[in-house]
Amino acid sequence: MTGFRFNTIFHKTKQFHRAGNFSKTIAILPVFFISLFFSDCGHSSGQEVRDSLRWWKGNLHTHTLWSDGQDYPEMVTQWYKDHGYHFLALSDHNILSEGQKWIDVAPGDAVFRKYLERFGPDWVEQKATDDRIQVRLKPISEFRCLFEEPGRFLLFQAEEISDTLAHLNAINISRPIPPQGGNSPVELLQNNVNAVIAQSRETGRPMFCQINHPNFRWALTAEDIMQIRDEKFFEIYNAHPLTQSFGDSKHAGTERMWDIILTKRLAELNLPLIYGIAADDAHVYHQWGPAYANPGRAWIVVRSHHLSPESIIRAMDAGDFYASTGVAFKDILFDGRTLKLVIRPENGISYITQFIGTLRGYDSTSRSVVDANGIQIRTTRIYSNDIGKILVEIKGTISTYTFTGNEIYVRAKVISTRSKDNTNAGIAWVQPVVPGVIK
Ligand SMILES: [Zn+2]
Ligand SMILES: [Zn+2]
Repeated sequence: MTGFRFNTIFHKTKQFHRAGNFSKTIAILPVFFISLFFSDCGHSSGQEVRDSLRWWKGNLHTHTLWSDGQDYPEMVTQWYKDHGYHFLALSDHNILSEGQKWIDVAPGDAVFRKYLERFGPDWVEQKATDDRIQVRLKPISEFRCLFEEPGRFLLFQAEEISDTLAHLNAINISRPIPPQGGNSPVELLQNNVNAVIAQSRETGRPMFCQINHPNFRWALTAEDIMQIRDEKFFEIYNAHPLTQSFGDSKHAGTERMWDIILTKRLAELNLPLIYGIAADDAHVYHQWGPAYANPGRAWIVVRSHHLSPESIIRAMDAGDFYASTGVAFKDILFDGRTLKLVIRPENGISYITQFIGTLRGYDSTSRSVVDANGIQIRTTRIYSNDIGKILVEIKGTISTYTFTGNEIYVRAKVISTRSKDNTNAGIAWVQPVVPGVIK
């Protein structure tokens, strides 16, 4: 190992952030720090613990028939497990997959037929009336045992809190959280984030919340998200075709929003980093193509010792993960001064890494966006190109960026030759890092 892992440096940099919010966000951490080190993990030395770090691939945004997804939860889970994922969050709208729920099924329904064929009549619960069949949706507590395996596959109970103005995914919650509402997008986001934190504190269970698809219905702006306290995650890429991750001529794309959010939080608002998540937001499992919200397009890869909710959430909280649509890393190293990426190469594919950041002394002015009649639109403001500049571009599978001392943050984006115009396939986003000393 040629440098410190993310965790090391993030512990160091925490003390330089003035934001008490940072420590509030991870108020739950001491609970699982203790369980991590005193549970029966079987590690006897520091070397063994380091060696046990692994990358785990997962999707944190998935729908099933518990809300508007188009397949049974076991079928959806099976799809992800069969396609090399290690963890999956089932995140239906305003509901947990628990309790009794029966759905009507039309005679000859192909989705039901496939479910019955795959899991068999002993597993599938159905009852027939005169003109229809009713099928019971299994709660996660009943089907976990079919899929979960230590070190191989993990399910998170989750909910997409689908509020009037925005959606947020609450991951690893134990009770449903009703949409909290609010008189503005900022108030609504903050109320929902606070509700997840409150449940985590009350139960002692690690949980987190991610702000979903900011550009769906142009709901959220960078200015909204940058203000949210105790929030560390938002979707920089949501693969659902209606979520407008790329923005348009009047609306910033989510990646541009990320740079604005990072710059303003770190340099002006005294708030900590926000990390980027890529997710499927999968709904459609039986028709395939760019127009459908299919699974398998966008994911995160987390580095942790164990495939457990505690270990995965702890690593994410430390920023030790990346978002991807088709690029994988062997290693990501940051020693407080140099960020080094080692890509896991694939035959016939080449890579360009962009190190992106904002330097001190940047032009902080901005202007509003107006429509054809000169009327202001509620959308992310237009900022200078100083924000989120490409600092260096490097070809190949190993790339490094050494801080000069002038950077507010640096993140990396890897673009592979698999990527095509106007799609985010074949890309990876490395989480932002801040230099060893932050003022
Ligand atoms: Zn949503
Ligand atoms: Zn969704």
